[in-house]
Amino acid sequence: MAAAAASPVRAQTILDLADAAQGEAPILRALRVAAAVGEDPAALRDAPLGRLHAATLGFHTVLASPSLEAVVTCPSCASIVEFALDADSLRGVSGEATSGELTVPTDGGIWRVHWRVPTAGDLAEVAGRTDAAAALFARCCAVTGPGGEGTADAPADVVERIEATLADADPLAEVTVRLECPECSADVDADVDPIAFVWREVESRVQRVLRDVDALARAYGWTEAEVLALSEQRRAAYLEIVREGA
Ligand SMILES: [Zn+2]
Repeated sequence: MAAAAASPVRAQTILDLADAAQGEAPILRALRVAAAVGEDPAALRDAPLGRLHAATLGFHTVLASPSLEAVVTCPSCASIVEFALDADSLRGVSGEATSGELTVPTDGGIWRVHWRVPTAGDLAEVAGRTDAAAALFARCCAVTGPGGEGTADAPADVVERIEATLADADPLAEVTVRLECPECSADVDADVDPIAFVWREVESRVQRVLRDVDALARAYGWTEAEVLALSEQRRAAYLEIVREGA
C-alpha cells in the first residue's frame, strides 16, 4: 500500500489550531485558520466576510483537496442528494462594491438604505447573540423610511432588496447552490458553509495525527513531542514501515 502524500500543513500546526479554537465560535475559528495560512487576521476582520471564506477555502485545498463534498436532503421526497463543489473556483468569486445607497419604492413611499457588506469582525461581534441577525443588520444598514425617519423596521420587500444587494456585493458571504433532486426532480437549495467544511477537515486531520502518534509511540516508544518533531515525510515513512511490519 502506498503512503498518502504528505500534507504541506505540519501536524503540530493542526493540533495547535484545534487546541486554540476549542469551544470558539466558527467565525473566530475561521480567523485562526486564515492566520495559519499566513493571512493577516486583523485585515480580514475588517474585510467583507467573503474574503475570510475565501481564505478558509484556500486552507481546505492545502489541507485536503479543493473538492467540497456534502449531502442535502430533498425537501420534497426526503431523498439524499449528493453534491460536490470546487473550492478553488468558488474562491475566485467576488463582488464589486462593498457599500452603497439603495432606493426602494414601495406603495407606502420611498425607502432609502445606506448599506455596507458585513465584515468578519461584524460577525464576530454578534456571534452567540440571540438577536444576531437583527444586530448584524443594524450594524451594516441605515434605513430611512418614506417620512425621512431612521428605523430598524423595514417592510419585508425592502429587507428582501437589501439582502439581494448584499448577496450580490459579497457573493461568498453566503454560498447556496441550486441542485436538482435525482429522484423527484425538485429544486433543492444547499447552503454551503465554507467554515464548517474546513473545520471538518481540521478535525479529521487531528484524528489522523493522533492515530499516527499512537502508532509510532507504540512501535518505537517515542513521545508525542518526538513524533511531532519529525517532518511530515519522515513520519509517513516510519508509519509505512510500522504498517508493513504489522
Ligand atoms: Zn426529491
